[in-house]
Amino acid sequence: MTDRFAPPPSRGCSNTPVLKERGQHEVFCGLTGIIWLHRKMQDAFFLVVGSRTCAHLLQSAAGVMIFAEPRFATAVLEETDLAGMADAQEELDRVVTELLQRRPDIKQLFLVGSCPSEVIKLDLAKAAERMSAQFAPHVRVLNYSGSGIETTFTQGEDACLAAMVPVLPASDARELLLVGALPDVVEEQAIGLLEAMGIGPIRVLPAPNRDSEYGVGPNTVFALTQPFLTDTHAALGRRGARHIAAPFPFGEEGTTQWLWAIAQEFGVSPEKFAEVTEKPRARARKAIAQASEVLNGGSVFFFPDSQLEIPLARFLTRECGMQAIEVGAPFIHREIMTPDLDLLADGPTLAEGQDVDKQLERCRAARPNLTVCGLGLANPLEAEGMTTKWAIELVFTPVHFYEQAGDLAGLFSRPLRRRALLQQEAAE
Ligand code: SF4
Repeated sequence: MTDRFAPPPSRGCSNTPVLKERGQHEVFCGLTGIIWLHRKMQDAFFLVVGSRTCAHLLQSAAGVMIFAEPRFATAVLEETDLAGMADAQEELDRVVTELLQRRPDIKQLFLVGSCPSEVIKLDLAKAAERMSAQFAPHVRVLNYSGSGIETTFTQGEDACLAAMVPVLPASDARELLLVGALPDVVEEQAIGLLEAMGIGPIRVLPAPNRDSEYGVGPNTVFALTQPFLTDTHAALGRRGARHIAAPFPFGEEGTTQWLWAIAQEFGVSPEKFAEVTEKPRARARKAIAQASEVLNGGSVFFFPDSQLEIPLARFLTRECGMQAIEVGAPFIHREIMTPDLDLLADGPTLAEGQDVDKQLERCRAARPNLTVCGLGLANPLEAEGMTTKWAIELVFTPVHFYEQAGDLAGLFSRPLRRRALLQQEAAE
């Protein structure tokens, strides 16, 4: 099913030694995930138990949004809580009771831990258990950590979804579960393609609301749509569900291989698969070719940030003609990443974790055409004449599957075009 692509490299990166770094790292925290998660779960509320810093981060990540009924907030831990002078559990009970009395539309409440709540060892699991008993069956209360201590921003979604898996009912039904919070339009495209092949029933995690939830069990097979869902992968495995391993659905090749892995699981014939995918594949190929002209022959350096780095390096090297110099990822989960690592030709430095100063030195020495990094590093590197792409944009923008493949290439080519224009203007 990958007939139109270059054959897999004779030596992929699966056995490439990994440079493991455990120094200072520059990433956002997992609270960021609330921005896209609250849009997917229509009856959920995210209550961050944190500091004013956490409230500011959420507000600025969300932009200026005015809601009639907001679906996230911060319960600010005051100095008396942090100093252990007040009973934070009692305070939290009061805040949650007031919130749920005022908002009967909330069916799922997530207590989201933060750095401050972890530092004072506020037991949110205990709080969630107590509140679940108090507010059941109308409201389900779960907890997860969005703390930035030793984590990266996409781990917030992973922790949230992993927290939901144990409370899904048991089921023996043979069902396909798509895992990951994608924009609705993108999710609909994936489901449309799979249903056109005769695959179903298809469920999604997170479900749009509690009423549309389903069971999970040994006959559930699941496909991840995001590479950072490692804890969710483990939680589903503990429920007996089986993972369909595949490259991630970025670009024409990744999407085709991802769909083909699922199609094989459900016994779809190659003819049917070709019939359903031929047209969108052609559109994707054309769009990528147009958007990637400026990328062809260039080099790229990834700082670890979104956890999307390895699949994106595979996309840029195999479909956009780029050369990867270094591919840094916060964590490399072998089982989830192997299909992408197999396709990424041996050559780039593969790095896990970060020691930011050392990595900056390597990047400056390499002078890549494009550097993919977090917001905090982008501006200083731009000032040094390097062209950068903010990794966080790759999570906020619809980039999965065929119809978005051109936009994905465009996200990388835009900064290069912009710099070329600026240089041209400066020369005139
Ligand atoms: S959770 Fe930690 S890293 Fe995130 S905003 Fe709060 S204090 Fe900062």
